[in-house]
Amino acid sequence: MIGTSPRPDVRSLSRADLLGKFADWNVPAYRADQTLDWLYRRRVSTWDAMTNLPRDLRGRLAESLDFSRPEAVRCQGSVDTTRKFLWRLQDGALIETVLIPANPALYGDASDRQTLCVSTQVGCAYGCRFCASGLDGFKRNLSPAEIVGQVIEVENYCGKEAAQQGLAAPQPGGERMIGNLVFMGMGEPLANYENLIAALRILNAEWGVGIGARKITVSTSGLAPQIQRLANEPPQFRLAISLHGATDPVRDQIMPVNRKYPLKELAAAIEYYQEKKGRLITFEYILIKGINDGKDQISPLAALSRRLHAKVNLIPYNTVEGLPWERPCEKAQERFLAGLQELGVTATLRREKGHDIDAACGQLRLRTDRELKPLTDDPGIPDK
Ligand code: SAH
Ligand code: SF4
Repeated sequence: MIGTSPRPDVRSLSRADLLGKFADWNVPAYRADQTLDWLYRRRVSTWDAMTNLPRDLRGRLAESLDFSRPEAVRCQGSVDTTRKFLWRLQDGALIETVLIPANPALYGDASDRQTLCVSTQVGCAYGCRFCASGLDGFKRNLSPAEIVGQVIEVENYCGKEAAQQGLAAPQPGGERMIGNLVFMGMGEPLANYENLIAALRILNAEWGVGIGARKITVSTSGLAPQIQRLANEPPQFRLAISLHGATDPVRDQIMPVNRKYPLKELAAAIEYYQEKKGRLITFEYILIKGINDGKDQISPLAALSRRLHAKVNLIPYNTVEGLPWERPCEKAQERFLAGLQELGVTATLRREKGHDIDAACGQLRLRTDRELKPLTDDPGIPDK
């Protein structure tokens, strides 16, 4: 497990890991469930707050395990809009998490709860040409605790904020605010496979965060072998493929990963995933002016989508400072959408306004501090 500290973080452990540890210490199993209850229902952030655990057990836990939380550095946006959280991790690395308001869901089922876009790495090694996350290269993998921590801290932050505004805050163990998770933040989730799977188990488990597998979407730039590996995991997670090109020459130009796993190999891995998991695939397709928005991409994209029973999600390119590309005009976007629909593809076009703040993950970290709203009105993270 790669993290920032030689000791594992308690939020990186599964229930089985914790039970094993407690068995080694001759501590009864129900103490592990009490600990999990404090972590994932009551969501405390210190050992001392776990008041029904004996003091010496708390001391032992504190000696052998980390219990870290990301520190909120910035929050951009406000209630009812897309909000971006910038976190500083224990080693000073910065990552971001994006909270998207409730809407007819793009991923998972339609939900009146919000979608959280989670990061899995600091930076990214894959260097897709449209993406801010890879601009500074790859720094490190996030630990399971750093992935899980994003979900918990955002809910804590919003709960505390709601309480300050006199609104009902979500109750421990009650219905949660975040309905869907998408792994579309910074980093390539499938390149951090072990830690991703450990985090997914905690996020999905009844004893953990308790979000249904069908409400969790893993997005990948197309790591074919890991897609097959994910297909062999028991839960039915949804899969989003960052496609962005429907022929190899166009995709090669946008995403270096295509040279390693060209479309034929990627399609075979997706087919395998579907055989195991059913039809849970979405293609992400960023429309970039003059690069992949031409008529010539419509029919190969339609053919691939029909063959793989994939829904297509068209996303107008968000300009990234330092990158040369532009988004096509709205008319061109609509034409591309209509072309796909005429060929029988289920496709949507992201049309929201205010795309500056909706800007893709990875961009917040790169912005200058001046542009960001400091957390002066920070309601703080509750310290129950
Ligand atoms: N590495 C994974 C997960 C990161 S999410 C992957 O590539 O799938 C990547 C997604 O962020 C893209 O599919 C796209 O939906 C979005 N994105 C990244 N840069 C963007 C940009 N400049 N404009 C619009 N969307 C962007
Ligand atoms: Fe990495 Fe995904 Fe960005 Fe490509 S799109 S650079 S894989 S985060």
